[in-house]
Amino acid sequence: MKLAARIGHVTPSMTLAIDAKAKAMKRDGIDICSFSAGEPDFDTPQHIKNAAIVALNAGKTRYGPAAGEPGLREAIAHKLQHDNHLDYKPENIVVTNGGKHSLFNIFLALLDEGDEVIIPAPFWVSYPEMVKLATGTPVIVHTTPEARYKITPEQLRQAITPRTRILIMNSPSNPTGMVYSPDELRAIAAIVIEHELIVVSDEIYERLLYDGTEQMSIGAVSQEMFDRTIISNGFAKGYSMTGWRIGYVAGPLDLIKAVTTLQSQSTSNVCTFAQYGAIAALEGSQDCVQEMLTAFTARRQGIYDLINGIPGLSCLKPDGAFYMFINIAGTGLDSLTFCDKLLTDYQVAVIPGIAFGADDHIRASYATDMKTIERGMERISKFVRSI
Ligand code: GLU
Repeated sequence: MKLAARIGHVTPSMTLAIDAKAKAMKRDGIDICSFSAGEPDFDTPQHIKNAAIVALNAGKTRYGPAAGEPGLREAIAHKLQHDNHLDYKPENIVVTNGGKHSLFNIFLALLDEGDEVIIPAPFWVSYPEMVKLATGTPVIVHTTPEARYKITPEQLRQAITPRTRILIMNSPSNPTGMVYSPDELRAIAAIVIEHELIVVSDEIYERLLYDGTEQMSIGAVSQEMFDRTIISNGFAKGYSMTGWRIGYVAGPLDLIKAVTTLQSQSTSNVCTFAQYGAIAALEGSQDCVQEMLTAFTARRQGIYDLINGIPGLSCLKPDGAFYMFINIAGTGLDSLTFCDKLLTDYQVAVIPGIAFGADDHIRASYATDMKTIERGMERISKFVRSI
C-alpha cells in the first residue's frame, strides 16, 4: 500500500518498542531486568482509583466536552496558580490523552511548513518526530555533560534563525534528569523574548525532584515570558497513572481553542470517568507523591553508585525525574550495539542513547524496585567487563 510521505519520515518510538519487547520476554518466562520505559512500578493510589470507580458507577460514561470536564479544568488551573505561580483560568486549559498528545496537538496547532523548533539534545524521543509530523523542522542543539546537558544562552542564540518559532524546554529532563535553575531560566527567557519565540515547556516530571532541587516553570519568570509559554503536563509520572492517558495543555486562549478544535475533530473528550480520578489526584492528599519520591530517592542513590562503580561507564547524578543517562564511550560500542547485546546476552533492557540524540549514552529508568536494580547492574557490570 502506498503510504503518505509524512509517515516515511517518522521513526517508531524506541522507548515503547523496547519496553514492549521486554514485557513480551517477561511473559515468555525470561528472567529480564527492564530499565526501559519511564513507567513507575507503583499502582495508582487507591483514592484516585476510587474516584474513577465512583464516577463510573454514577454514570460518567457519556461524551463530555472536547476540552475536558469543567471540574478537572478548574482543578488544573488552581494547581497551576498555587503550585507554579502561573495565572491560568480554566478556559486556558485543555485536557488531553496524555502528555504526548498535548505536545503533538501543540505542534499541529502552531507550526507551518519549515517553521523551526529548537530542541536541546539529549531530548525525549518523540519531540523531533512530532515536529516533523506537524511539517516543522527540528533544529537539534547538542549540549554537554560539562553544562549538565542544558542548553546555554550562547548556544540558543546561535541556533536562532528567521524561521525559528519554538524552543522546547523539558525540566526535569527525560532522559538526563537535569533541572534548569531559576537563573538559567531567566537567561534563556531573555533571549526568547528578544527574538519573539515561543517556549513549549514540558513539565511532566515536575513532582520528581531530589536533594531540595527547586523546579520553576519558565512561564513564571515574568509576565512577558508567561505570554510566550505553553505548558504541557500530565498525571502519568507523578501519580503513577501511565495507562490512564490524561494530560493537559495550558496556554493562551487562542491556542487552547485551536487544540480544542483539533480534539473535537479527532479524539473528542478524554475518557470521562478517568478524568474524575485526575481531579482526585490534584485535590486529594499529596502523600502518595511523597511516598513514591522517597522510594525513587533511595533507588537513585543505589543505581548511581552501582553504575559509577563499573569501569567504562559513568553518569551524572540527576536532579529530577527517574532516569540515569549513562556515558558508555569507554566501552567503545555504539548505543544500539550495546543495548542489543545487553538484551540478547544478559537479558537487561535499556534504551540506546541514539534515540535521544546521544549515541555514546544509554538511558536506564530507575522506576523499578531495588532488587531489579541490583541484579540488572550486576549483569551490566559482567557485560561491560566481557567487552
Ligand atoms: N515517556 C516515557 C519514556 O520516555 C514513556 C514511553 C514513551 O511514551 O516514550 O520512557
